[in-house]
Amino acid sequence: MDRCECGREIVQPKTGRPRRRCETCSPTKARNRIVPIKAPGSRPDPTIADVVREAIVQAGKAGTPDGVAAIFAAEMLAAGGMTGPAAAALLREMRAASGDALRDVAEAGDIVDDLKKRRAKRRSG
Ligand SMILES: [Zn+2]
Repeated sequence: MDRCECGREIVQPKTGRPRRRCETCSPTKARNRIVPIKAPGSRPDPTIADVVREAIVQAGKAGTPDGVAAIFAAEMLAAGGMTGPAAAALLREMRAASGDALRDVAEAGDIVDDLKKRRAKRRSG
């Protein structure tokens, strides 16, 4: 029977290298703990939901089925948590819906700049 330097009995693992210290002195969990990777600034600013909502609202299409569908899909995308294929399908739906909603709106391209400007103004003021 192996004993740790602290005097406790060492329970040897069935696989892998034999332990030289007990579970208390050298916990398995601490060594194997997975540190979640956080991307710096993982949330784009503005988010896709912000941009799409703004575009739909500015176009006056927030009350249309296409507009509502586009905003809904964008918010789901922004919330994240889905798999790659699900996100891709959602993105496709969002683009189709927002494309339909904004088809007759010419100035939709300036919305991101516009949003950034207004946010900057809000922060400084
Ligand atoms: Zn020990």
